Amino acid sequence: MSEVGFFEAGARVAVLTAEPIGRPLDYLAPEGGCFPGAFVEVPLGPRRVVGVVWGPGAGDFDAAKLRSVARVLDVPPMRAELQQFLLRMSDYTMTSLPGVLRLATRVPGLFDPPGARKIYRLGGTPPAKLTEARERVLEVLSDHGGAGFYLSELAQLAGVTPQVVKGLVKLGAVEEAEQPRDLPWPHLDPTLPGKALSEDQAAAAEALRASGGDFGVTLLKGVTGSGKTEVYLEAVADCLRRGRQALVLLPEIALTTEFLARVEARFGARPGEWHSGATQGERRRLWRMVAEGGCQMVVGARSALFLPFRDLGLIVVDEEHDSSYKQEEGAIYNARDMAVLRASFAGAQVVLASATPSLESWVNAEAGKYRRLDLAARFGASELPEMRPIDMRAERIESAHWISPSLVGAVQATLSRGEQAMLFLNRRGYAPVTICRACGYQIGCDHCDARMVEHRFLKRLVCHQCGETKPIPTACPHCGVEGKLAPVGPGVERLADEVAERFPTARCAVLSSDLFGSARALKEAIADIAAGGADIIIGTQIVAKGHNFPRLTLVGVIDADLGLQGSDLRAAEKTFQLMRQVAGRAGRAERPGLALLQTCQPEHPVIRAILGGDEEAYWRAEAAARQAAGVPPYGRMAGIILSGPEVAPLFEIGNALLQRQAPLARIGAQLFGPAPAPIARVRGRHRVRMLIKAEKGAPLQGAIRAWLRGMKLPNAVRLAIDIDPQSFL
Ligand code: ADP
Ligand code: ZN
Repeated sequence: MSEVGFFEAGARVAVLTAEPIGRPLDYLAPEGGCFPGAFVEVPLGPRRVVGVVWGPGAGDFDAAKLRSVARVLDVPPMRAELQQFLLRMSDYTMTSLPGVLRLATRVPGLFDPPGARKIYRLGGTPPAKLTEARERVLEVLSDHGGAGFYLSELAQLAGVTPQVVKGLVKLGAVEEAEQPRDLPWPHLDPTLPGKALSEDQAAAAEALRASGGDFGVTLLKGVTGSGKTEVYLEAVADCLRRGRQALVLLPEIALTTEFLARVEARFGARPGEWHSGATQGERRRLWRMVAEGGCQMVVGARSALFLPFRDLGLIVVDEEHDSSYKQEEGAIYNARDMAVLRASFAGAQVVLASATPSLESWVNAEAGKYRRLDLAARFGASELPEMRPIDMRAERIESAHWISPSLVGAVQATLSRGEQAMLFLNRRGYAPVTICRACGYQIGCDHCDARMVEHRFLKRLVCHQCGETKPIPTACPHCGVEGKLAPVGPGVERLADEVAERFPTARCAVLSSDLFGSARALKEAIADIAAGGADIIIGTQIVAKGHNFPRLTLVGVIDADLGLQGSDLRAAEKTFQLMRQVAGRAGRAERPGLALLQTCQPEHPVIRAILGGDEEAYWRAEAAARQAAGVPPYGRMAGIILSGPEVAPLFEIGNALLQRQAPLARIGAQLFGPAPAPIARVRGRHRVRMLIKAEKGAPLQGAIRAWLRGMKLPNAVRLAIDIDPQSFL
């Protein structure tokens, strides 16, 4: 890599591109020379592509045929720290180098010269005649307050051709403008006073401050409402005072309005935001400003980890246990683990914050690899809610109803005090299954091994695997009998019907990601509920994360057993975390909270641990069980997913892989499978899984590389490697 400080014109340089070539290619440095890490444009066959000067050329290419770098782009070179991180990440996750480079550069328009692109925003004149297509364009524009869209982006979001947008420009309903210059963010002032901290909080903040500018990982554990955010904002302040940049990763970016307001209250200005809801123009600006130092703090989703920070001093991973940190498609990686890796190269602090840490982090803290800071109490008067089971075996409940009489009573009492109640059910849609009462057929997806979920709000059946939708039929697609299709089981929409029936005067709000057209609409709905705009909130797991509803005092969990049914090794851990998080929503202000869990197995160890509140005992037991089984974090695992249009070749390949497993056996690893994946077909592609188990210290990646070396796959077949798998679907 970059041992050289500068490449003179004509020197051999290796340039890595995001093209699937696998390794950097040699070029000649352009006139004027270039720095290592420089972003450049190079000829590749007949095309020009963007790449990064990765280091000195390998020299294994005929000098006479070498081509020259076409131009050096007007952005700061990639820093050695980011280069090293990408290399190491590629090595660890077994994603190709171009694959990881793509994560760090996938911003359309990133390298365009100024003025090369136009942006489109709402114009002054509403059109006289509105077609449905035009209406969709205007809807997207008015949904988004900000910087305007690129043409292709807008057309795609609205589902129209670019001509429709151009037509609206002619009518004055849409305005076409030059892409604005990328301006720095307003300055964040770390010297503004923070809140007066409690003793616990102050001690934790001081411990983080004392660890200063070097690499180190801290697990910050505290119940919801204990002030973890206040504490890590102090670490951010300290980082900014040192003149370094801070990154805060959040799992559910839709829920950050409140968070951004808190940052603004603390530092006097808003941080940069990085998530899928931001427009491409906004993302381009943030990427460039982060590189130039024109943005001190970024709040973002997992992919913000690949931004080209000029001097990254702190990474906070909030709700570090959250499974959305694991990217399951394309480059498969866990952003929490990669945050630790990046920080080690950047010389940055990592703060992992959670009320219910992942077992991995808990074990790392036990082993002394991570420092652990605990915030014991909730801030101020608020206390953790009381938690009680409702034994569903003893409740008398009508068919097609899910709210037990005990829970109905508790909701009524809450409403009569003028407080809010929340009913939690982690199932989107109206009903998870639609069955034909004549023949017993269950409507499934045509492309996946999954049942179609009825969404009454959308008036369609939806596949939660691939997103395919179809109208709700009136006749059974199997036996053709009319009027016999019936919903089975509850989703949040169906629960809303039951709430309306039981509590006819209460105002009910359903919070489910699919019910809102945009992240902004969801944010607004949440703000409205927090301000008292609803009496009963029905929610999926999006309500479990980081939002304050000060008037909420009762949480009813409709089916606490739901998550325990999976075959996943983390099923118990996930249920424990989710239930604790959801329960933690109740009683955050001055009023005490109550959480009621409807369960058919109140004596199940996980349910008992949730109710008993002895978390350390729970983790110790779970850790012991995993250790006995030799599974993560006490052993290593890798998943191999073979996918393709036909199932037979996948098993043939799987069996061929079994035959050649000597390199795995050499490190003592065991190979299981091939077996159909639990979801055996997605988007028309069959899926077959294999699983590798090894001891903790085993050199797994090297062995997998040796095992797969020279393995030829048919074109239609893909082989994906999932190091440290989280889910086994
Ligand atoms: P967590 O991140 O652990 O869920 P928060 O930092 O969000 O906790 O704190 C919960 C609530 O208590 C927030 O509204 C926060 O502003 C408030 N709070 C926490 N600590 C303090 C403090 N020291 N002074 C004033 N308010 C505080
Ligand atoms: Zn499907």
